[in-house]
Amino acid sequence: MPELPEVENLRRGLNSRIKGQIVKKVSVFAPKLVSGKGNVRHASGAKTRLFIRAFKGEKIQDIERRAKNLIFHFQSGKILLVHLKMSGQFVYQERHKNVVEGGHPIQLSEIKLPNKHTRVIFELNKGVLYYNDTRMFGYLLYYPTIGTLIRENHFHKLGLEPFDPHFTLKYLAEELKKKTGKIKTVLMGQGIVTGLGNIYCDEVCFAANIRPTRRANSLKPNEIKKLHLAIQHILKRAIEMGGSSIATYRLADGSRGNYAREHRVYGKDGKPCVICGEDLKKIIVNNRSTVYCASCQV
Ligand SMILES: [Zn+2]
Repeated sequence: MPELPEVENLRRGLNSRIKGQIVKKVSVFAPKLVSGKGNVRHASGAKTRLFIRAFKGEKIQDIERRAKNLIFHFQSGKILLVHLKMSGQFVYQERHKNVVEGGHPIQLSEIKLPNKHTRVIFELNKGVLYYNDTRMFGYLLYYPTIGTLIRENHFHKLGLEPFDPHFTLKYLAEELKKKTGKIKTVLMGQGIVTGLGNIYCDEVCFAANIRPTRRANSLKPNEIKKLHLAIQHILKRAIEMGGSSIATYRLADGSRGNYAREHRVYGKDGKPCVICGEDLKKIIVNNRSTVYCASCQV
């Protein structure tokens, strides 16, 4: 699943290529994906017809990101909200040019477009934007205005963006005090700050010398300070590096994310800690593999 740095890079890549373009035609091959969100969804013919009609002739003004959601703003005020979930990907192809993609990795056998996993096609004035999704957990939703999206309270469970000026040390300390869960579980919940999935949670806990199983409300002021710095530093660096290139994940400009080279604990169980040399340990937290150094992280 792409994490925040990968979605941010996809957003930047899409903005540089499709901003200002006009949607000529929309085709939907999996009505379920445009009919709602959540695990149980039913295809709606009415919603699908509305989705197809709504974007025709519309000019793409900007693409914004909130946590791992992409919000496409059209000049008329219409909104397209997209979440890639486990296996969604966007592939943009301009006539006579190479394919560019972002999100879930594309398989070389599926480089032909459209392919059997193509669920929605947006024909633009200069090229074609394909939404592919093997497992179909992602969604693409139409809102007539930003107000209708906000009123639906779509983002109410999400905490602050890591680079929001309100995400201060004081805020983090106050929020952690209210939580009794393990620090990794609390951070992965996204309710305090967004952007920390499995990879970046392990990396920030290591950088802050905090064991992922510590209770959130047990952290001391100097530990919270280190954690706050680590969250901002690691996510900023990961975005700059284009995200973590896992397997064949690639960015919207076709390049690879390079942050994986800088991982210090994620995926490195049994290897020596870069600080103390002890073997890194692997445990399960929040049903996810978690790697940490038992001597550096207390
Ligand atoms: Zn160590």
